[in-house]
Amino acid sequence: MLNIILFGPPGSGKGTQAAKLVEKYHLLHISTGDLFRYEMGNNTPLGLLAKEYMSKGQLVPDEVTIGMLKNKLEAHPEAQGHIFDGFPRTITQAQALDQLLTEKNQTINALVALDVDDEEIVKRILLRGQTSGRPDDNDESIVKNRINVYNDETKPVFDYYTTSGKAFKVHGIGTVEEIFNRLCESIDSI
Ligand code: AMP
Repeated sequence: MLNIILFGPPGSGKGTQAAKLVEKYHLLHISTGDLFRYEMGNNTPLGLLAKEYMSKGQLVPDEVTIGMLKNKLEAHPEAQGHIFDGFPRTITQAQALDQLLTEKNQTINALVALDVDDEEIVKRILLRGQTSGRPDDNDESIVKNRINVYNDETKPVFDYYTTSGKAFKVHGIGTVEEIFNRLCESIDSI
């Protein structure tokens, strides 16, 4: 059982790399951003609630996000492992994830963080916004807010896993294939 957190700021390439890692390691991909967008697309109460936060570049409250993640985990008991993409984004979420996995006799094996500087991130997200159809990718002030939230609330999650020796940083600039190989090297070293 392999449980990997794919970490990094918005626009660092997590979605692209997660798809490749899932294929190589046969993991279940859990992206909380994708799950919220699915709910939004279906106008569910959860989607409507999430939209209030996502449209401002803010985090959806922990209890809502953790509840959704728990449901997703419980819906797939057959999974041979997971790749968590965009979760955990707060220390509270990291603690909840540890607890959920412990209850299933599992653990996080590694957190791999894509390292990309803020300037490059803003450029990439605004470019993605031209085709992604995501309102939160189109407005520079929302993009900047997402980066501030990442720096203030999410970065400490890296340190949380550093204390247990599970956190790895990977240079996040290069071709998709180069970055993928760096990620695999880190994962295969654990
Ligand atoms: P993403 O697709 O991962 O960039 O997420 C898009 C948006 O969904 C974020 O800006 C948040 O508003 C919300 N979101 C996704 N994952 C989480 C999470 N783990 N905790 C709180 N909010 C989240």
